[in-house]
Amino acid sequence: MNQRTAEMAYLANGSVLKAAKSVHMRQEDFRTILKGAKTFAPNGDAGAKVLLFDIETSPIKGWTWDVWKQNISPVQIIEDSAILCFAAKWLHDDKVLFQKSKGHYLDDRELIETLATLFDQADIIVAHNGKAFDISRVWSRMIFHGLPPPVPFKVIDTCLMARSILNLPHNSLQGIARYYGLGSKMEHEGFPLWFKCMDGDTDAWERMEEYNIQDVLLMEEVYRKLAPYDKKHPNMALYYEDCADRCTKCGAKALVELNVTAKAAVSMYPSFRCKVCGSVCRSGSRIQIAPVMRNIL
Ligand SMILES: [Zn+2]
Repeated sequence: MNQRTAEMAYLANGSVLKAAKSVHMRQEDFRTILKGAKTFAPNGDAGAKVLLFDIETSPIKGWTWDVWKQNISPVQIIEDSAILCFAAKWLHDDKVLFQKSKGHYLDDRELIETLATLFDQADIIVAHNGKAFDISRVWSRMIFHGLPPPVPFKVIDTCLMARSILNLPHNSLQGIARYYGLGSKMEHEGFPLWFKCMDGDTDAWERMEEYNIQDVLLMEEVYRKLAPYDKKHPNMALYYEDCADRCTKCGAKALVELNVTAKAAVSMYPSFRCKVCGSVCRSGSRIQIAPVMRNIL
């Protein structure tokens, strides 16, 4: 067994003990092989497992009568788009995983299997324009390769998040990052980079890897910047087993009680500001109020 296979077993099982059992190895032997591999397990023991990822795809190849406003029918398509590569990382973890198609650029089965494994482990997936593109494209390829659907997860689409809560000149990753001074996407030669990668050019693949990884790192910055303002953000406190008051946006326990209360239809709740991400949230326990106030309704 090589490091890569060990890593895949580890990813699929979530622990060294279970992974070793799954491949009928002693735990110590398995750990020795895994040691030195670029292991890519979800973060930690507690909290939501949040996966950030980004894909790059090959173009669709086809016959076309013209170049402007074309309606290309299925019979005109010679070659469908495949996923060339992806970069992914867990929130709160420095490691970034990059995987590209194996051999021919259309052979994306192995990387799709890795993505499916990662999806199965994730509680929440973050992708920029992920609903319309990255996630739905991965699903398209999972079905193509006959893989079962992933375990359900929540999606945070940083593009939709920006659109719904902000008013920026651009909602592209580059546009949001520029506006907040978070950095920039890596510059490259444009479409020829894709051609070169499809041709197996090693130097081009290095640039593609750098570009793909930079996109995920930039997206993480954008996500961290916007999340405290997002009222539709999944409640991160739900992913901890303790019953402590936690920030609903980042899960931190570092909360400072505010001297204003959050008011719902018939109840009031203590409200807090998170010292880590700055967002405001309310306690799940309501403030006991005098019966006379409840009768106002
Ligand atoms: Zn927070």
